[in-house]
Amino acid sequence: MKAVLFDLDNTLYSTECDLFSLIDVRINRYMEDVVAIEPAAVDGLRRRYWKDYGTTLQGLIRHHIVDPEDYLDYVHAVDVSSRISVDNDLKETLNNLPLSSYVFTNGSRCHVDRVVTALGLDGLFADVFDIRIADYQPKPNPAPYQQVLEQLALSGEQCIMVEDQLQNLQTAKQFGMKTVLVGEVSTERQEYSYVDAQLERSADIGRLLDEWLEVA
Ligand SMILES: [Mg+2]
Repeated sequence: MKAVLFDLDNTLYSTECDLFSLIDVRINRYMEDVVAIEPAAVDGLRRRYWKDYGTTLQGLIRHHIVDPEDYLDYVHAVDVSSRISVDNDLKETLNNLPLSSYVFTNGSRCHVDRVVTALGLDGLFADVFDIRIADYQPKPNPAPYQQVLEQLALSGEQCIMVEDQLQNLQTAKQFGMKTVLVGEVSTERQEYSYVDAQLERSADIGRLLDEWLEVA
């Protein structure tokens, strides 16, 4: 195994930070103020675009001729440091990982930079793969995974994907990756054939990797 691909939002930091609610407000405001969609129609359209395309952005590109760069700048203009603080456990874990770490996200690179800095993790990721990597097609579409593997010149079997979203791990598994679900581990946890391990926090991945690398 060569690389660990970490999702960003709700994976490198806990859902309890609730950073996405700030972005959520910006998405609604963008649809109302910039795209001039009736406020009453916004929620329904967002649900539809999420369901049909995986992100609101894809729906806006396809149906409203929105400039994706303008959208990404606008929706990510939130005060990250008001919700996210330095995570020394995660810093230590990443420092000691025997594999290279990467960020692979449906967000934008500048959002990644802000979050990584707020977490105190600058310099710990070898590279960042953002929503631009496959012409704004988000995970769980196969296209961005394909691009990431091409850019890394690795096979899926050489990668571990760490994520809070099940559907994104399902695609990772189709590429042969090892998969780690991050988030609250419920006592009646369900088993998914495409999830190899479940962790409460990304900072706990060290021990798991030790096990996997010993077996490999
Ligand atoms: Mg996420």
